[in-house]
Amino acid sequence: EIHVDDIIESAVAMYQPRARNRQITLTSDLPYKLPYVYADPKRTGQVIRNLLSNAVKYTPPGGKITVTAAAHLNHIEVRVSDTGNGISEEHIPFIFERFYRVDPSRSRDTGGAGLGLAIVKQLVEAQGGQIRLHSEVGKGTTFVFSVPIYRREHEPVTLDADDIVPVAEL
Ligand code: ATP
Ligand code: MG
Repeated sequence: EIHVDDIIESAVAMYQPRARNRQITLTSDLPYKLPYVYADPKRTGQVIRNLLSNAVKYTPPGGKITVTAAAHLNHIEVRVSDTGNGISEEHIPFIFERFYRVDPSRSRDTGGAGLGLAIVKQLVEAQGGQIRLHSEVGKGTTFVFSVPIYRREHEPVTLDADDIVPVAEL
């Protein structure tokens, strides 16, 4: 049982110095207390940190990054938005593939292996969630992922021998 609010706050705190160094405003916007979700705090934290790592890398100075979350009927949705470079339409279908990078040059600022988003997608889906993005070149990118509130694997199974009735007796 985890509180996504706390995980968002600590990921944002962790990236705050890096954002400040690049003159980027990084804020979380959590207007109300989210319900608990039955998810793994380590995985959920890593998803948010990977998305923040990208947002900080691919947003020029003066930009803004916002993390928000909202509760739905059976899932929580987390959004990481930036006012960065954006990703053009032809790259979007490949963006979650391993080693895929829009700009393969390894500059000091924007270097990377191209693994972050592949890991993000794997972690989100392993928890039963989904991820999508909206992006506009020159305007920015928003990644949206969901975390189910309940997981099947965590639903209690309370059958014991006395509950098992032979089929013929039913
Ligand atoms: P790594 O995460 O392994 O250090 P990486 O950041 O290049 O390397 P991914 O996180 O998988 O790899 O991202 C893949 C590519 O998607 C990036 O190289 C970049 O071109 C593009 N990208 C990802 N996030 C953003 C974003 N917020 N804005 C613009 N482009 C992005
Ligand atoms: Mg990355």
